[in-house]
Amino acid sequence: MKLLVIGIDALMPELVYNNLDLCPNIARLIETGTSGAYSGYIYGHGSRDNWISMYTGLEPEVHGTVLNRFKETNRMPRSTDYNDENTIWNIISKHHYKVGFWKGLSTTPPQSVNGYIVAGEPHYENEGYDAEIVSRKPILIDDKQYLLQFIKGEEPIHPEPKALKDFGYTFEGLKGNPQLIDNLLEPSYFEEALDFFEKNLDFRLQNMISVQKKEPVDLMWMYDAVFDYIAHFQMFDTGHQVLKKALSILDKFIGKLIGELNPKNILLLSDHGQKSYREIFPDLSNEIVEEAFGLAKQCIITKQNIVLIGRMEGLLSGLHSLNGIICFSGEAFAQAKLQNFRTIDIYSMILELFNIEIPSNRKGYIQNIFSKEHAIKNKAKIIPNCPKQPVLLIQSEEVSEFNRAINEFYKQNRFKSIYVYGEKRYKEVFLANDQVDGFYPNDINFSDIDCHEIYAVYHNHVTKNIQFIRVR
Ligand SMILES: [Zn+2]
Repeated sequence: MKLLVIGIDALMPELVYNNLDLCPNIARLIETGTSGAYSGYIYGHGSRDNWISMYTGLEPEVHGTVLNRFKETNRMPRSTDYNDENTIWNIISKHHYKVGFWKGLSTTPPQSVNGYIVAGEPHYENEGYDAEIVSRKPILIDDKQYLLQFIKGEEPIHPEPKALKDFGYTFEGLKGNPQLIDNLLEPSYFEEALDFFEKNLDFRLQNMISVQKKEPVDLMWMYDAVFDYIAHFQMFDTGHQVLKKALSILDKFIGKLIGELNPKNILLLSDHGQKSYREIFPDLSNEIVEEAFGLAKQCIITKQNIVLIGRMEGLLSGLHSLNGIICFSGEAFAQAKLQNFRTIDIYSMILELFNIEIPSNRKGYIQNIFSKEHAIKNKAKIIPNCPKQPVLLIQSEEVSEFNRAINEFYKQNRFKSIYVYGEKRYKEVFLANDQVDGFYPNDINFSDIDCHEIYAVYHNHVTKNIQFIRVR
């Protein structure tokens, strides 16, 4: 096997790097390869947007799935919505390599490839159930049905975290006495999900090994969503009691998987990280949180915690954050430093590893982290080594809307670092945004700021269009 991709939704780089003693197998990959935090799509984007960008090498606005909805159908994306000759499984198949996908997000219905795609979508939320694609059972296309004889069982049924009503409270009741939430949230809050995580990974482990013996592939890609599911409910715990246990479970899985499959190269990655709502709005008064956070009305806010009640039944304390983890390890990779790595580069890096020419309309770069044994094919795609230019964006509307503009600018300008010129009371909120490198209060003079470029943001609320007008 030339490459094993281990895709773990929302695995946070900080959790891994701060707890390497809990994950010796992952630590070995990190020590022997090249790894780091990289920028995923978050504000206004969902996990599916990110994973489809990895399969296609295209940005969400180009492949068409934004916020987990395919724009032409306004429903959860199907593989048929974006699949074409350059999708990673097709381009690799075309070059006579075999691929095997295991439960990749948004790979249902499974496509015909050189190898196989085991599909079936996870679904852990209390809304948006899509019967056509959600399945705990493996889904294979007709001419691959014979593989089912080597696949045992199905994914286990997910547990649900305790909801307010299970604690005997109502949202209105807690709004009047918010401190109660601090006592409800024990570090072990959603611990029962650990057993589910372990069984879910075990389903993959046993079957990936047994199918690889019958039908070996060159690229195997597995995905699991449970870490993200747990993290959404556990981010209030700054000691990460449950998430550390999840990391250890994941590490044992990775150790066994690598031991059995013995791949030449390994790519461990997540699509983004997780942060608690409190980290995003640090040490701020309720008043400022309510001004700066569009969903504050649905939250219980205390000095210690911000808990969102809504999208799922349980007490949500975390949301997706910009930085996912990425680690390239194996014979084709050296120990090097990643710079300015983004989601769309993943596709380019995989094609480069397989010595395949990257289609010219892909904007992703490759980074020269390859070992001497690998001669680089796509030299023109090597990321330019230029320092980021500082630019100033003038805050021209309230924070949650302005964050949208920052996100657009960030996506469009890969070689610029963003400074915000805005209302002083929101300094901490902007500084907690990982896309922002610095802040200037708007009572100081432009001429005192060392910045080559200054942009006014024009946000047309009728057309939703955002323009950046250069004023210096
Ligand atoms: Zn995700």
